[in-house]
Amino acid sequence: AGLGRQAVAVLAQVRDVVVEHEEELGKLDAIAGDGDHGIGMRRGVDAAFTAAETAIGASVGRILTAAGEAWSERAGGTSGALWGSAIIAAGQALGNKTGYSGEDAAAAVTAFVSAITELGKAEPGDKTMVDALLPFRDAFLTEFDAGAPVDRALAVAAAAAESAAAETARLRPLKGRARPLAEKSLGHPDPGAVSFGLITARISQHID
Ligand code: ADP
Ligand code: MG
Ligand code: MG
Repeated sequence: AGLGRQAVAVLAQVRDVVVEHEEELGKLDAIAGDGDHGIGMRRGVDAAFTAAETAIGASVGRILTAAGEAWSERAGGTSGALWGSAIIAAGQALGNKTGYSGEDAAAAVTAFVSAITELGKAEPGDKTMVDALLPFRDAFLTEFDAGAPVDRALAVAAAAAESAAAETARLRPLKGRARPLAEKSLGHPDPGAVSFGLITARISQHID
């Protein structure tokens, strides 16, 4: 149950960072998209946190499944469906573990990212959150393979995600709602990549 509580604590961090950046994420999405990335992430994470808290005492897998289902349902939008399925996949990777090893963390990260690439089918360079997710996963696994502890691997991976998110500014969107206004998006980073970078940076500051 300790790992379930940690998962709820992580979701509380995700909620806080999303609330802090809600307006900024909305404005970023309004440049070439429909402006709802901030409110969508907010609705999703609020619902996910509440569902997770309600499930406390259950296995981490059940807690994260409840959280992911609530996120997808309540967020609406593309990013909500992707975040929801990714959280469910990470929960399935952790199952009924009560603590995590480096291997478990690596499996959860891999499952999270694979769920999004399988559901969304975005390729690197399409200017989506995938452009931050893949550098995050690769950096995490590289650090882990080199023997780094989870907190260190996460810090390096979060830094990779944040710089990769910033680098999406030079790309034209090839997937999602921003595609028709691709030219407007040039010079601005992808909202979903930016939120992922912010969230992973926050988690890495609070994980123990
Ligand atoms: P919507 O586009 O439905 O309004 P959001 O505004 O919440 O949803 O999310 C937009 C973000 O979703 C984009 O910035 C991008 O990062 C991400 N996204 C869109 N389509 C895909 C996809 N096929 N694969 C991965 N991420 C995607
Ligand atoms: Mg949007
Ligand atoms: Mg929308």
